[in-house]
Amino acid sequence: MSEPPISHSLGQQQEPVCPRHPERASYARCTRCMRPACGQCQIHLEVGMICPDCYRDVTGHSRPQRARTSNNPNITYTLIGINVVVYLLQWIIPNYWVYNEFAYKADWVAYSHEYYRAITSGFLHSQNDPSHLLLNMVSLYLFGAAIEK
Ligand SMILES: [Zn+2]
Ligand SMILES: [Zn+2]
Repeated sequence: MSEPPISHSLGQQQEPVCPRHPERASYARCTRCMRPACGQCQIHLEVGMICPDCYRDVTGHSRPQRARTSNNPNITYTLIGINVVVYLLQWIIPNYWVYNEFAYKADWVAYSHEYYRAITSGFLHSQNDPSHLLLNMVSLYLFGAAIEK
């Protein structure tokens, strides 16, 4: 006596199928509506799984947002890039032009009203002390990356 082969017709009668993919047997059930959901439809939550219909009911979104496209702290990298470029310009442009144009000194600003210097000075570093830039960028990276997350 041999076991009957598991036929597809038998399967269609007895196996639960995904309501969205009737050709797929689906033994996992949505924990909210208790309907089957196939592997493609299952949306895994921290506890259990729900189907796309319930997910939409609950959240208003069709699917969970994909994992963020990037975990890179891009704003931090951009800021570091600006700082490095400015530092190179400090070296490239002679006569401390960058420093003279963008550094902040309270009495200059009181006289000149060049208030942008309060911000631009943040991108300037001691031209003759590269460790100033280096240490600032390391801490910018550490704090920036953590905050950006
Ligand atoms: Zn459901
Ligand atoms: Zn499905």
